[in-house]
Amino acid sequence: MNIVLLGPPGGGKGTQAKRLEDRFGLKQLSTGDMLRAAVAAGTDTGKKAKAVMDAGGLVSDDIIIAMIDERLSQADCRSGAIFDGFPRTAAQAEALDRLLASRGSRLDHAIELKADEEVLVQRIAGRYSCKRCGAGYHDHFQRPKTDGVCDACGGSEFVRRDDDKPDTVRARLEAYRLQTAPILPYYERQALLTRLDGMATMDEVTGQLEALLRKPVKR
Ligand code: AMP
Repeated sequence: MNIVLLGPPGGGKGTQAKRLEDRFGLKQLSTGDMLRAAVAAGTDTGKKAKAVMDAGGLVSDDIIIAMIDERLSQADCRSGAIFDGFPRTAAQAEALDRLLASRGSRLDHAIELKADEEVLVQRIAGRYSCKRCGAGYHDHFQRPKTDGVCDACGGSEFVRRDDDKPDTVRARLEAYRLQTAPILPYYERQALLTRLDGMATMDEVTGQLEALLRKPVKR
């Protein structure tokens, strides 16, 4: 099964993708995580992407599509993937269809987590994650059970993303509105699109996603 999670930054795509990974045996493919790893490793891709990411813009389609192509060839994606933060443009959506078709596969669901922009700025501004295992937390909405200690792995170092500052967040929301939201009709026309309320609690959204993914896919 292959799933695309769409929706503005901060709408919960990453959190939900991680939850679905274990429950459905799928691999989360986050282009944002891949780019951040490339920036941290100082690769050519990372060097090209950094300034664009810091400004809240979109990295070029060629770079993103090549990254996904390479990733899909790896063994851990054989039973399916949850695309998180990809596709973000019409060219990427069309490329994804081609990449899956060339592997004898196809997309089963495109799910939009709808969210209110002002709430997102507030949500994003307070978020951070465990440096060791990546578990996500928030200053107000999701603190670790013991302050300063990761619930998942016991780690004590946490990181905040450079592009989570309010001005950059607004630029990222605009990129979503102008370049990514217009691809929703592409999936609607193929009867693949489901819209969910990303402002519901994380557990409610997970419940709705699970119910959707457990239903047999109509082809
Ligand atoms: P994310 O973690 O998905 O919010 O992505 C962080 C940043 O990485 C975005 O603001 C973009 O600059 C870049 N990025 C991630 N995924 C893509 C993509 N599919 N296309 C273009 N840029 C991307």
